[in-house]
Amino acid sequence: MTAPSAKLSFWGVRGSTPTVDPGTWRYGGNTPCLELVAPDGTQFILDCGTGLSMLGSRWVIPNNTQKAETHILVTHYHWDHIQGIPFFSPLYVETNEFHFYSFRSKFLGRDSLKQVFEAQMATPYFPVDLSAMSAKRKFKEVAGGEEFTIHGAKIVTRWLNHPQGCLGYRIETPAGTVAYATDNEPGDAKLDESLRELAAGADVFINDAQFTPEQLATTRRGWGHSTWLEGVKVVREAGAKTLVLFHHDPDSTDRMVDNLLRQARDEFESVYAASEGMVLTLGGDRVEAHLPGARSALRREAQFRALVTGTTEDGHAFEEETVVNDLSLQGALIALSHQPRLQSELQVVMETPGANGAGSMRLRGYVVRIENDPEKGCSAVGVVFTE
Ligand SMILES: [Zn+2]
Ligand SMILES: [Zn+2]
Repeated sequence: MTAPSAKLSFWGVRGSTPTVDPGTWRYGGNTPCLELVAPDGTQFILDCGTGLSMLGSRWVIPNNTQKAETHILVTHYHWDHIQGIPFFSPLYVETNEFHFYSFRSKFLGRDSLKQVFEAQMATPYFPVDLSAMSAKRKFKEVAGGEEFTIHGAKIVTRWLNHPQGCLGYRIETPAGTVAYATDNEPGDAKLDESLRELAAGADVFINDAQFTPEQLATTRRGWGHSTWLEGVKVVREAGAKTLVLFHHDPDSTDRMVDNLLRQARDEFESVYAASEGMVLTLGGDRVEAHLPGARSALRREAQFRALVTGTTEDGHAFEEETVVNDLSLQGALIALSHQPRLQSELQVVMETPGANGAGSMRLRGYVVRIENDPEKGCSAVGVVFTE
């Protein structure tokens, strides 16, 4: 019998507003939306940012006759967490059923989320009205400090420190526990404690990492967001296993997020920066991460001798001579006997034949994919060139 596994997919990871700047495409520009599929197939969606419409466009219709419902946990009503709703195509399919969970906002009163739906689709803000949404929708109000069960998964909620309120969710499945704490700022003793309760012993702890510690201490204090450094403190104190930096600032380029991730990894062993398309699998000895492959473009099959330096899975530096045989303007596939760490940086120095004899080209790449080939005893490592 195989151990149960759960799959956590990141459809949107950007905070505040979507970004389309090419300097942000590697981590992605869609606003928050995560999907967790529990071992029994129960589907959870966390937040409804623009990532939700991406999820909708890849919607898989379950092939079992018993139509399963989807459970959508909404943290709060700021735009970046709800703006995907009108564009989520499965809401317009009669046979689908969605159960929404969110808190009663003191600014909206009863049925807060239902009111959000109506307001978002009111004339003249949206071309079709709510009656077009034919999927079955059920709304449940939850508050911080509650515990309930959905198909054998235990859900725990806690209030987080954020303007106009925000809920953090902890989902305990038979394959492992995910704690989702977007949009929160440290500094309120009681809510700081709540955050640690959510994260306690979690396999994956997703935390707001919008700002740098310097920004949080000065110009961004009181904006309701956190840092990689706070995330590291919480995982350590709460005994969580893997930290995911989330809710990237719209002004943060990929290089800036790389930098935040590097600093966090200097302090804590298992850290990832949330990126669009990233999938974490829970249930094995450790959380496994998968990033989508580089966008295919202008591939050239060629053979370049290369010297590659980087960091292995367990954090050691390595240097290896190899051949690069799949090269594009944006990235390359490199065979390595070392196993580099996902989301780490590689230096690639390639010998390039030229008119005036051989030259060399120095590139910096970022590991987005690792495919092990046990037969050949090496890995095919996909990198995206960053400079
Ligand atoms: Zn937000
Ligand atoms: Zn917010």
